[in-house]
Amino acid sequence: MICYDCPRMCGVDREKSKGFCREGNKIRVSKIIENFMWEEPCISGTKGALAIFFSGCNLRCEFCQNIEISHKGKGDCYSPEQFRELLKKYDLTKYSSIDLITPTHFSSLLYEALCDFKSPVPIVWNSSGYESEQMIEKVSEFVDVFLPDFKYFSSELSAKLSLAEDYYEVALKAIKKMREKKPNNVFNDDILTSGLLIRHLVLPGQAKDSMKILQTIKQQIKEPLCSIMSQFTPVGKTFSRKIYPLEYKIVLDYAEKIGLNDGYFQDYESANKNFIPDF
Ligand code: SF4
Repeated sequence: MICYDCPRMCGVDREKSKGFCREGNKIRVSKIIENFMWEEPCISGTKGALAIFFSGCNLRCEFCQNIEISHKGKGDCYSPEQFRELLKKYDLTKYSSIDLITPTHFSSLLYEALCDFKSPVPIVWNSSGYESEQMIEKVSEFVDVFLPDFKYFSSELSAKLSLAEDYYEVALKAIKKMREKKPNNVFNDDILTSGLLIRHLVLPGQAKDSMKILQTIKQQIKEPLCSIMSQFTPVGKTFSRKIYPLEYKIVLDYAEKIGLNDGYFQDYESANKNFIPDF
């Protein structure tokens, strides 16, 4: 499998060597958590999601909170057929959604596994936003809800923290494509059954960057539904502190001022290590 699954465009044969994401030609699952309640209420619902954490990542942010799986590579490998069979072993009606967490670098394999999969609950594509429009077009055949991050405006910041100078341009195009494929947010019993929910994590000292991202969302994405997050905990070399309450308030006030009112924001107290799952 010569891989061009994501904007890194490594062009490597994943059977023989590894690209930036460091994953091979099988779907590697690090952990599955049943009835996972840590997502937004419209994803977790009252039953919780069936959360599937994939190993590896095509962004590998320096401050990653899931470093054990995204940087170190752990888990069991499945062919597309085996992955499909794995899902069938679960009674999917017991969950509010199927939450595919960091799936981008397995896009082609997941497409093979799930393109005609009939799920009784929404399938959520929970990604970093660093994705190609072509791949979003493809996976939208089986994905019901796109749940991308929109992390950085500044190319300097994205280059430093995620080795992706072009993050903003690439993610904006991908998110616009997600909106095109799921043009409206549709809820059923408070669960988002089709649509787009954009996440933004506020970083220490980066309130201005956050405001530029929120402004972009407001101006360029139709019917924006946002989740603004405060849960950053210091991991990596660049940041040695959590965000301050004041900088979080500045970002939330700005969201309100520009009319970005639909969605969720975390309580400031969420910035603790309880938000880092134990892998
Ligand atoms: S999915 Fe992995 S190997 Fe493929 S282009 Fe992206 S980073 Fe490279």
